[in-house]
Amino acid sequence: MNPIKSARIRLTVWYVLIIALISFSFSAIIYNGVASELERGFQMAEYRINNPRGGIIPRSIALIILQEDFENARRSVIMSLLKINGGILITSGIASYILAGRSIKPIENMLEEQKRFTADAGHELKTPLTALRTEIEVALRDKKFSLKDAKKLLQSNLEEVVSLQKLSENLMLLNKYAQKNHSLSFKEIDIKGVVSKAVGIVQPLARNKNIKIVNSVESRKVKGDAQSLTELFVILIDNAVKYSHEKSEVKIQSEIKKSKMAIEVIDEGIGITKSEQEHIFDRFYRADSSRCKENTNGYGLGLAIAKEIIDRHNGSIGITSSPNQGSRFSVFLPLS
Ligand code: ADP
Repeated sequence: MNPIKSARIRLTVWYVLIIALISFSFSAIIYNGVASELERGFQMAEYRINNPRGGIIPRSIALIILQEDFENARRSVIMSLLKINGGILITSGIASYILAGRSIKPIENMLEEQKRFTADAGHELKTPLTALRTEIEVALRDKKFSLKDAKKLLQSNLEEVVSLQKLSENLMLLNKYAQKNHSLSFKEIDIKGVVSKAVGIVQPLARNKNIKIVNSVESRKVKGDAQSLTELFVILIDNAVKYSHEKSEVKIQSEIKKSKMAIEVIDEGIGITKSEQEHIFDRFYRADSSRCKENTNGYGLGLAIAKEIIDRHNGSIGITSSPNQGSRFSVFLPLS
């Protein structure tokens, strides 16, 4: 049986057992009280019969009737208690099953997500590994394989290895930020410095595509972890450059909105459709438009990491984008 279902049934059984124990104990106490009251009544009546004051019914018959009444009363008390207990058990059984299901739901969702994550990660690893293996096998079978061919093959293998290394780094980053007990070093930091550092990291890629990065972020203090915030802006600026056309412009600007620091990364690139925008923060999600593009190798983990970093800073992220017109990613961080 599926472990979640069996855990739900086990929890239900435990709930019902505890309720049954409480209910039966109370019933036993009530029964003892009622039975001793009846016994006392019976003894008093018996005394009156044994000491008649001008009695009408013969003593022996009166005693039998009394005995029968006593037995009937006792049976009726037992029946009522059994019915009440049965009702309690059935109602508590149904309620317990529903409650157990609700308590287990978050664990079930987490397990589902983990399963999906492992399957997706496995799939992403398989594709470059298969390509590597095929290239090497074909080369080994080729009898006229020259030094020039070998260099070409190694170059292609190196690209696959670099891409695999990037995937493993991203998986580790995602794992790091998703673990809520992994502590970040929160300090008062200047957001301008963080964004400038991120721009510096992405600059070579932008230069390759003749893309101009215009950074006008103001100097403001926010409470945050400098390293993870740099990683966050590297992801956003890197995407802006990756999904932009050559010789275009990427703007990074800031403003204070509702006592939060808003930092916007704006590009004039391929844009994202409304339906795709709902999924871009999902792990391993890549929009169709970007899959088709050459030189935009990615695994769909960047924005999932970005979202975890923003959550850890009690911030939020918003996006406005139109296909073929560009995208605007707005990060909101609490001011310190
Ligand atoms: P990837 O490594 O594929 O870039 P991300 O998680 O960073 O993964 O992004 C997920 C998807 O969101 C991308 O594959 C792309 O389709 C889309 N995307 C992200 N940023 C942009 C952008 N600035 N312009 C257009 N599409 C973008």
